[in-house]
Amino acid sequence: MYQIIDGNETAAAIRGEIAAAVREMTARGSRVPHLAAILVGNDGGSETYVSHKVKDCAEVGFRSTLIRMDASVSEEELLAKVDELNRDPELDGLIVQLPLPDHISENKVIDAINPEKDVDGFHPVNVGRMVAGLPSFVSATPAGIMELLKRYHIPLKGAECVVVGRSNIVGRPVSILLSQKGIDATVTVVHSRTRDMADIIRRADIIIAAIGKPGFITSDMVKEGAVVIDVGTTRVPAPEKKAGWRLRGDVDFESVAPRCAYITPVPGGVGPMTRVSLLINTLKACKR
Ligand code: NAP
Repeated sequence: MYQIIDGNETAAAIRGEIAAAVREMTARGSRVPHLAAILVGNDGGSETYVSHKVKDCAEVGFRSTLIRMDASVSEEELLAKVDELNRDPELDGLIVQLPLPDHISENKVIDAINPEKDVDGFHPVNVGRMVAGLPSFVSATPAGIMELLKRYHIPLKGAECVVVGRSNIVGRPVSILLSQKGIDATVTVVHSRTRDMADIIRRADIIIAAIGKPGFITSDMVKEGAVVIDVGTTRVPAPEKKAGWRLRGDVDFESVAPRCAYITPVPGGVGPMTRVSLLINTLKACKR
């Protein structure tokens, strides 16, 4: 019988721990952690993500500041705002919600953020430090996956892990974290050019699926007793839902779950852990 890895429950427990840490800081007379988010334009998805971040901050007792800028803002104006916030001593974490309008270079903006306030972990300094195994801010989804594996005591030392997908925000960083000294998993990364992919995935003790192809991982690709972490979140039509859609993962849950020791659901697995990782990083930035 498989066990569900419950991201909602785990993230709620972590938020409770963070709120307790904030109460302790307040009792000692310290300032509470402060996160600022810059939102450029009014893309629906970005609005939702940022509003979640503001709500999460409020729940744990952080201060948050939302800075809205018009979609027509120039790159120079945005960079000037980042510079101003970099120098604000009352601010611990700074994020710029992506994507940005086409006339603004995302790389330039990410490069401009002070790495010590880069709680999204996208700055090349943080990416480089993560790769080198040095203390760094790790981006939210890979950090959330590692935290889930840790809290469910999934044995990683020497485990065969197959990461499906090699994006800069999920597959690549999680593969690096899993293979780090001290974590010690044996990691294979597969992608759209991989030959005999099913054979490789079938060897895995732990499968991390991050490709954005609903139901791609089927039961014939999964070893009996494997641990399956499903990162995929694709909207698929669901006429029975009020919204007309639902989220579906990269794993065909119905057929795969019975073969697993542990599996994350979609929604309610990795997603909530991604959200809570930003809070963990902001608390860390404040404590520094
Ligand atoms: P991405 O940037 O589009 O990268 C997808 C990766 O999957 C690429 O490396 C691609 O290979 C690989 N791929 C695509 N089709 C494949 C196939 N048929 N076989 C093998 N590999 C294949 O995606 P992403 O940003 O990493 O996101 C992946 C999924 O995770 C999406 O559903 C996204 O919505 C979800 N996501 C969820 C969270 C969360 O918090 N739950 C966070 C981030 C992302 P190539 O490199 O060869 O093209």
